[in-house]
Amino acid sequence: MKLTLIALGLVPALAAGSSFEYRSTHRALGRRAVKNAAQLAGITDANQECKWYEDKTLAGMNFPKQSHIASILDGDNDAWGVWNDIQKSGIIPSHVQVKGSASADHRGISQDAQSSYDKSDPDCWWSNTQCTKPKSKKIPEDIYKCDEPDTWGLTFDDGPNCSHNEFYNFLQQNKLRATLFYIGTYVVAYPYQAQRGITDGHDICVHTWSHRYMTTLSNEQVFAELYYTAKAIKAVAGITPRCWRPPFGDVDDRVRAIAAGLGMRTILWQEDTDDWSIDEGTPRSKIVGNYKKINSKADQMSPIVLAHELSQNTMGVFQQMYSSVKQAYKNIVPITACMNVTNPYPEDITYSTFEDFVGGNIDPKNKPDISTIKVDASASFKPVALSKQTGKGSYASPGGSSGGSGSNSGNNSASSSASSSASNSSSSSSSSDASNSTDSQSASSAADASGSSASSTSSSQDAASASGASSLSVTVLYFTLTAAIVAGAFL
Ligand SMILES: [Zn+2]
Repeated sequence: MKLTLIALGLVPALAAGSSFEYRSTHRALGRRAVKNAAQLAGITDANQECKWYEDKTLAGMNFPKQSHIASILDGDNDAWGVWNDIQKSGIIPSHVQVKGSASADHRGISQDAQSSYDKSDPDCWWSNTQCTKPKSKKIPEDIYKCDEPDTWGLTFDDGPNCSHNEFYNFLQQNKLRATLFYIGTYVVAYPYQAQRGITDGHDICVHTWSHRYMTTLSNEQVFAELYYTAKAIKAVAGITPRCWRPPFGDVDDRVRAIAAGLGMRTILWQEDTDDWSIDEGTPRSKIVGNYKKINSKADQMSPIVLAHELSQNTMGVFQQMYSSVKQAYKNIVPITACMNVTNPYPEDITYSTFEDFVGGNIDPKNKPDISTIKVDASASFKPVALSKQTGKGSYASPGGSSGGSGSNSGNNSASSSASSSASNSSSSSSSSDASNSTDSQSASSAADASGSSASSTSSSQDAASASGASSLSVTVLYFTLTAAIVAGAFL
């Protein structure tokens, strides 16, 4: 398990170097190259799944360096055009300052930025106050719970995981569909795994390019982190995502506004499994306890629940707990179903309403097929601001509760105040979980996470050596990649 876990964290970072050494090493090893998503989906050995391959179409496209903080690429006139329009639209609030970073690579927020922050929460900064209702009326409130009763909102972050086939098979076998929050770096590193997400009938949202603390990045970096992830998903999976989740929940009105300008609704969570912490040494039994705690709240709430496809541990603990979740909650559905978002993308794919979904129609109409899906480098990627999106059943304007009890659907981007129950205290029922999350995001924890990441890197050298790479190449890569490895603490 340890070896697999390391592979998950390291392989995208390996690609990040995009170095001659990396590619030539793999060529020299003569690694088998999978040619399409269907072929990849048939592999269930984790080490085989994670072996490097290249989709030639995707390789011809320009993206930011993998695992590095994104910025607008030189000469990318399309991106500059979209970015200039967002800036001119006036949606970005000028009073919200960039938050201080705890480290040069933005893997944490400085304690000073946290402690000196105005307690009246002028920025609606979730990391500090769990605020989900923006102060700016131009930005829709966050989605963090399901509109439908007795429902577990099924979400998994940090994919596509290169070795997720067994887990995705499990979801298939149990007729489960989830909302998947994909990291742009991984979409580009593992395009066929990403294609399986859409062809399996899940819905896909953005989880940024490099998984940093978004409130610590500049406006342009925030834009590029979202833009290039969405563009990669469009080219690879054929859909334009209109939803995103901030890593670590780190969002404020500045970041929300840029996402809204790009047409993306911000999605958080109401309950947190903290499953990622198993990889940091938390006993699995503690995470099992977290799941049980969420199960015990089934008659009180319909939470969107945060879990991860980060590692074999996080995917495994869900599989272990699934039968108990099923006993506790009548419905286990993706956000599209529990919010009645039937048209999450501008493309012609229609997802089921809640009623249809629980009635057994779990697959979206007109979804792409795994035997034919292809990367399309010429796919037109044209984001439309949330405020300009029309039509019902979108993330900008969810269909609302079929039972009339919901209040979180948010209406539309221009009238966030319409939804009355969501407020700064709206996630108070999970405030202890939220506090725990926030604790885990503190600067010292982030440093710890980096430390453990570094310590696992030495093991990863072993792992790479064991897989046959020459020690010279591995050493070169080790130094190139140590800085690029995504820190251990994922949310
Ligand atoms: Zn994450």
